[in-house]
Formats: sequence, C-alpha cells, structure tokens
Amino acid sequence: MITTESMLIKKTSKSRLSEVDFHDLEFGKIISDHMVISDYKNDDWSNLHIEPFGDISFTPTILALHYGQMVFEGMKAFRMTDGNVSIFRIEKHYERFMRSLDRMCMPAMSLRMFEEGLINLIKLDAPWVPSSEGSALYIRPFVFASEERFGVKISSEYKYIVFSGPVGPYYNKPLRVKVEDHYIRATHGGTGFAKCAGNYGGSFYPTHLAKMQGFDQVLWTDGSPDLNIEESGTMNVMFVIDGVLVTPPLSDSILDGVTRDSFLTLAHELGIHTQQRTVSALELEAALQKNILNEAFGTGTAAVAGPIQSIDIKGKDYSVPVPENGVMVKIKNLLTDIRTGKAPDKYHWNTVIKL
Ligand SMILES: *Cc1c(COP(=O)(O)O)cnc(C)c1O
Repeated sequence: MITTESMLIKKTSKSRLSEVDFHDLEFGKIISDHMVISDYKNDDWSNLHIEPFGDISFTPTILALHYGQMVFEGMKAFRMTDGNVSIFRIEKHYERFMRSLDRMCMPAMSLRMFEEGLINLIKLDAPWVPSSEGSALYIRPFVFASEERFGVKISSEYKYIVFSGPVGPYYNKPLRVKVEDHYIRATHGGTGFAKCAGNYGGSFYPTHLAKMQGFDQVLWTDGSPDLNIEESGTMNVMFVIDGVLVTPPLSDSILDGVTRDSFLTLAHELGIHTQQRTVSALELEAALQKNILNEAFGTGTAAVAGPIQSIDIKGKDYSVPVPENGVMVKIKNLLTDIRTGKAPDKYHWNTVIKL
C-alpha cells in the first residue's frame, strides 16, 4: 500500500470541478485541480509533491525547448461500478516510460516514486473521474530537460510533472487511412519505440497532407520497398485476416502499446487466434481482393480502439468491413468490463483506489 507520509500535498483552495460540463468533454481540454511535480538536480529526483494545477515559469533557454529532450506517457483511470477508481496497468506504463527516458539520455525514477505521485494525485482528484460509459480520467506524466543553457548537451536537470483531465467517450467514426509510401515515422535505430515528443512533431506534416487528400490518418510503413505496415497514426494497428488477429511484431520502430498488449492477451482469453508478424501492403491488398480482410483497427489509450473503414494502397481505395460485433468490439467490451470491475481482473491490471 502506498502511503502519503513522505509527500507534501498542497490542496487548491478553490476547486474548478463545478465549472465543468461532464456531458461535453472535449478531449484534452479540461484539466483537474492538481498536479504532481518533482525536480531532478545533482543526480537525483527530489521535492516530489502535489500542488494546484497552474502555470510554471522558466527561462527561454531551457534545453527541452531547443533539443527536444522530452518524454511522456498517456494512461487512464476509470470509475468502477462500485464507485471506486482504478488506474490501468501502472507498471506496464512505468516500464515503457523508463525505456523512453533511457533512449533520450534522461534519468530514470523508481517505480515507488512513479506510483506514489500517481496514486496520491488520483486519490485527491478522484471526483474528476467521470462515470458515464466510455469516459475516463486521462493521465499525462512527462519529463523535460530544464537546465538553463542553450549550448547542445545532455541536460543535467529535469522536471517531472503529472496532470490529469476527464475525457468523454472518443467518437470512433470509422477511419479512412492511406498506406504512406513516402514519409516514414520511425526507422530502425531511431526513436520510434520511445514516447518522445519529437516523434509526434515529425508526424504532423505527412498526416496533414493525408488529411488534405481526404484521409483521417496514415498507415506508417517501415520504409522498405515491401511497405511493411507498422502503426496507424498514433495508434498500433491490428488486422483480422481470415479470422486471425494479426499485428506487426514489436521492434525499435514500433511503440509498445499497452492497449495492443491488452488486446492480444484478451484475444487469447476469447479464443481468437493471434499472430505477431510482418504484414506488408502487398499482403493487405491481396487479402482485400480475396475478401478475407475481415476487420482493421487501431489501438491506443485515448480511443481504446478505432475501426478502419477504408485503406488506400498506392492510390487505390479499398473498403474494409466494420462489423457491429466483430473481434474489435468483443475485445474492447471485455477490456472495459475489466477496467470498471464488471469482469474479474485476472491479470492484476487495475490499481484500485478505495474511496
Ligand atoms: C502512445 C502510442 C501508442 C499507443 O500506446 P498505448 O499504450 O496503447 O496508449 C501507439 N503508437 C504510438 C506512436 C504512440 O505514441
């Protein structure tokens, strides 16, 4: 059990909770009352505490702003059917956070520090966890280089912050995607497996071009002539080919999604065969022509799962079935039931905060 003993908590004198319309939660707009902060200086994390959410100030020279040493996580807490709150897969997010920090030459923190900040924050802001179906409290931990110096170097000082905000059900309009055959998001030896801010910045331009062409997202490939599929926008991608759930295997250019991992585990439980293997655009095209591509969808914390309704391959548009009770929907429903306590938490994914 995590205690509050060592942590200083400064509560807000005026909660903003009553100002929020929980029926109209625009994603990423509403922020809860408090935030966790810690500073890394002299080779150690210190001053882990909670304070009211608000502006922080620093000089324009901090290294993160110039050289992009910045890493984040995205996780969720859910309102359970008994009124308690559960935080989903803390350890899995922690492990990935540490891998991202390591790749960017940024300092690790202990699991204890990560958990303590997170659990105290969510306990304090528990009234912000929405209860309507499909909604959740989105949690954003991040670290950035805060040393004040503009010469290129690995920063020796960092700031860790965690804030959260309620989000409604993601409107899952089936996506129109195109296989991106020019730009690439990540390549072997790069930072694709790390959740670093720059990966997003670099993906904006090709995504913007795809949107101008009428698509919602791009299917990223590995840049090889075979156009092996890697991810869908900022989500991992899954295909149901002839009844088998197929997803590209993890590599240093694919983000190790917690939702991806959860879907594979639950597919197994539901008796759905899975394969983690290379899928090329050529194979997808052949499957589409033979009508054996049953479903395609993306997975990620924000949307949980987003169905794909069409895939453009080299300028040819193919439509993909979006079944009402297919593999995606079945797995998503089981995942929701586990998170809200309707189904048993066999894999110990929930950290339950008793209120
Ligand atoms: C965060 C992210 C995902 C999804 O990971 P989850 O842990 O499931 O939220 C997939 N791809 C990229 C590039 C990401 O940044």
